[in-house]
Amino acid sequence: MKLIRQITDLNKAISNQKELGFVPTMGSLHKGHTSLINTSKKKCKKTLVSIFVNPTQFNNANDFKTYPQNLDKDIKLLKRLKVDFLYLPMVSQIYTDKKYNIIKLNKSQKILCAKFRKGHFEGVLDVLNRFTGIIKPKKIFMGEKDYQQFFLVRKFIERKYQTKVIVCKTIRDTNKIALSSRNSLLDLESFKKAGKISLELIKLKNLIKKNIKDKKLIKKIKCDLIKNFKIKIEYLECRNLIDLNTNLKNRPFKLFVAYYLKGVRLIDNF
Ligand code: AMP
Repeated sequence: MKLIRQITDLNKAISNQKELGFVPTMGSLHKGHTSLINTSKKKCKKTLVSIFVNPTQFNNANDFKTYPQNLDKDIKLLKRLKVDFLYLPMVSQIYTDKKYNIIKLNKSQKILCAKFRKGHFEGVLDVLNRFTGIIKPKKIFMGEKDYQQFFLVRKFIERKYQTKVIVCKTIRDTNKIALSSRNSLLDLESFKKAGKISLELIKLKNLIKKNIKDKKLIKKIKCDLIKNFKIKIEYLECRNLIDLNTNLKNRPFKLFVAYYLKGVRLIDNF
């Protein structure tokens, strides 16, 4: 595996790579990331992984400061997975003076996480715009766990570049909680609680499928979850996967959730 820190070295290393798969990450890698990497290795000739904790996508300074980092362990894992390139840029390399257009979401996009994390997706789109411009990958691999992120990135990137954005299924722990770097911030009690909440949400999704017209169902279960688990729920709602609006008629849909457990924000969809 080639470890690259400078853009000039990156350009040299990948200049002849026509079928490059790109897996952007913020590090503290787990089996969710491994799954994206293995899919990229299967579908592309070479795979490039980036580890970059992007400051502009954090709408909360403490979240940025406490974001889990584990570079030595990550490098060992990536070597074991036989990743071809690991790109580890500094913030100053990515946020150069070079002019990039300011990215704004439109009103219909300010839903789910975009409604509650002001500036978050603008930061995600900005950094992936910069990365894609530098790397020019054939394909980018992203996780379904962050479906709204995938949805916005695909639209933005595929319109601007000749890069396909591919979604990969969510990898879960044995207790059904979606793997996430932030899970390491949970204590054991919260981790177990999150597992029980996931089971409740899987049940709720099945109930909604059978009672698609029952608008009160989500409200009731949301109240039960808040009462029984003493959690703060930011949102719990169904949206279709085509345009993420609330019209579910004859469209595949998912149940989206964001909630806090002892100050740790978790998101998932079922
Ligand atoms: P992150 O390092 O959290 O920014 O995530 C990097 C990529 O890994 C994103 O495309 C995420 O959607 C994806 N990812 C994170 N957790 C999972 C998971 N449990 N299953 C599949 N993909 C995931």
